[in-house]
Amino acid sequence: MKKDQIINAISGDGLVSLKVLDCRNTVEKARKIHSTEPTATAALGRALAAAALMGNGLKGEDDSLILKFHGDGPIEGVFAESDSKGNTRGYVGNPATELPLNEFGKLDVGGAIGKGSLTVIKDIGLKEPYTGQIELVSGEIAEDITHYLFTSEQTPGVCSLGVLIDRDRSVLAAGGFLLTLLPGAGEEVISRVERDLADVASMSSMLSGGMSCEEIARLVLKSDFGEILDSTEVKYTCRCSEKRVLSAIISLGVDELEKMRQEMSSIEVTCRYCPAVYRFDPEEVIKLVKK
Ligand SMILES: [Zn+2]
Repeated sequence: MKKDQIINAISGDGLVSLKVLDCRNTVEKARKIHSTEPTATAALGRALAAAALMGNGLKGEDDSLILKFHGDGPIEGVFAESDSKGNTRGYVGNPATELPLNEFGKLDVGGAIGKGSLTVIKDIGLKEPYTGQIELVSGEIAEDITHYLFTSEQTPGVCSLGVLIDRDRSVLAAGGFLLTLLPGAGEEVISRVERDLADVASMSSMLSGGMSCEEIARLVLKSDFGEILDSTEVKYTCRCSEKRVLSAIISLGVDELEKMRQEMSSIEVTCRYCPAVYRFDPEEVIKLVKK
């Protein structure tokens, strides 16, 4: 089985950066963990792909990026996060979301998310994480990311994402690319990129057709392909641990914990991102807090 990865490429003139991602296994793992229906799988898969692509640009080892799509649609929110090392995870509010195909015959991710906002949180080791927010353009995710980068980060570019679901509802292909214009890219570069992009098929058809990330990069940057700079493996990984969950419970405070002790013999916490379940004895937690 092909490993999930992101490759980083640059144009010959050094003015166009391109990241190409193949993340079928990551999205399939997410589908199995969350038991998502096809429309929800596509929404979660696209968000995971977007987070992986954007997280790949972070500089620090511990930096991470979170995407929150809040809308009035039936999916009740889509959340994805990733770091620079390709560790990606996410969840949706309502995994059973399943809608009829939209007017283009595609899974209706925009309809599932609805009208609302995209919040991007970047934890790059500063005291306060960086937060940016936009109103959703379409809720189709790729378009929203492109709009976000342009308006909030003054980075002109194009994001393309694709998730293809098989007849048995598993993920057949998933991935995306993120093309950004670097400082100094003028009108000529823009028209060259637009011309090249006009010949590029959808991400899901390229991936399901068996194209590798490198082949896609060479096609997207056709007129002036430079080189592949690096590649990073991408995985569905959860960072939850007993320690992290315990400190979240402790932060509820003594009063809340006393209430819990009266009502339950065990505090049970299920991770939102993975199947892990953590159990704590309220007595023990209160003892810890009082210490
Ligand atoms: Zn977890």
